[in-house]
Amino acid sequence: MKEKIGFIGLGAMGGPMAKNLLKNGYPLTVYDIVDSRMQPLLEAGAVGASSCKEAAKNADVIVTMLPSSPHVREAVEGKGGVIEGVREKSILIDMSTIDPVTTREIEKKLSNIKVKMIDAPVARGVAAAVAGTLAIFVGGDKDTFEKCKPILSTMGKDLDYVGEIGAGEVVKLINNLILSINVCALSEGLVLGIKAGVKPDVLFKALSQGSADSFALQNHFKKFVYKGKFEKDVFPVEYIMKDINLAMKTAESVRVPQYFGALALQAYETAVAAGYGDRYYPVVVKTLENLAGVEVRADLEE
Ligand code: NAD
Repeated sequence: MKEKIGFIGLGAMGGPMAKNLLKNGYPLTVYDIVDSRMQPLLEAGAVGASSCKEAAKNADVIVTMLPSSPHVREAVEGKGGVIEGVREKSILIDMSTIDPVTTREIEKKLSNIKVKMIDAPVARGVAAAVAGTLAIFVGGDKDTFEKCKPILSTMGKDLDYVGEIGAGEVVKLINNLILSINVCALSEGLVLGIKAGVKPDVLFKALSQGSADSFALQNHFKKFVYKGKFEKDVFPVEYIMKDINLAMKTAESVRVPQYFGALALQAYETAVAAGYGDRYYPVVVKTLENLAGVEVRADLEE
């Protein structure tokens, strides 16, 4: 018998992740503060809840996929939150990208009422959420992770157990810190190359064969920047800034300087000032394109 799941937060990532659980036969109750976000899941066969408390009530496992730390805190500890409805021995899997300190505080509160928690933030974005091929970094008690493996496997392809509670968040924040810096580095390099006379498609091909190749070049740039695709509601600039800020806060707490993270943060701040805050975050390239008067666009071979 598959575990009953309560899924909270049905946005760009949570929506398709919840759908994959449903497709794999998990009985699912869903909740989002925005009604329209619940609709596609209800049509696919999920049961709707009217609060986080209700979503947690009959669930063996509760999954949260929310924007950041305050949202997870509100959903779990707030009025009508998970803590009011959850049963002893249930498990909370928080898959949001949040502050590891918040993760550890929530875990402590839940353990006082005999509820287990693991943190399991994800990498690779919306396409991987739809395909069920996310990378998932898991922190927490190992036995609880083992119990949750089949559930996590319906949403992700690569599951990495990385340590105690909060360790998943630390890994995720570092992943996004490095990625956000790489996106800025690619923006500078590509705009420079084009301004200095090399065609955008030629530059892409050459760098793909060189040692500057990267996941961000093959994904963020090839699939989005080169196509001029900077959608709304898909990991906007404001979300990458949230992650860099959380990484910087973590760095400050252990006194490790972050030169390039600080610079990247200012580059994204420039994108917000230019009016691009709600766009997919590689839009940061446009701030340099606008200054240089060139565009990183071409029809690339698929
Ligand atoms: P989103 O903004 O699209 O979705 C968040 C959802 O949570 C929204 O539908 C919102 O209405 C809902 N919500 C907010 N507060 C709530 C509450 N108290 N109770 C119930 N529902 C509530 O965000 P997303 O892109 O799905 O990202 C979710 C998390 O995953 C974030 O932490 C993000 O950093 C992380 N993430 C996103 C991506 C991506 O590419 N979008 C990739 C990896 C990780």
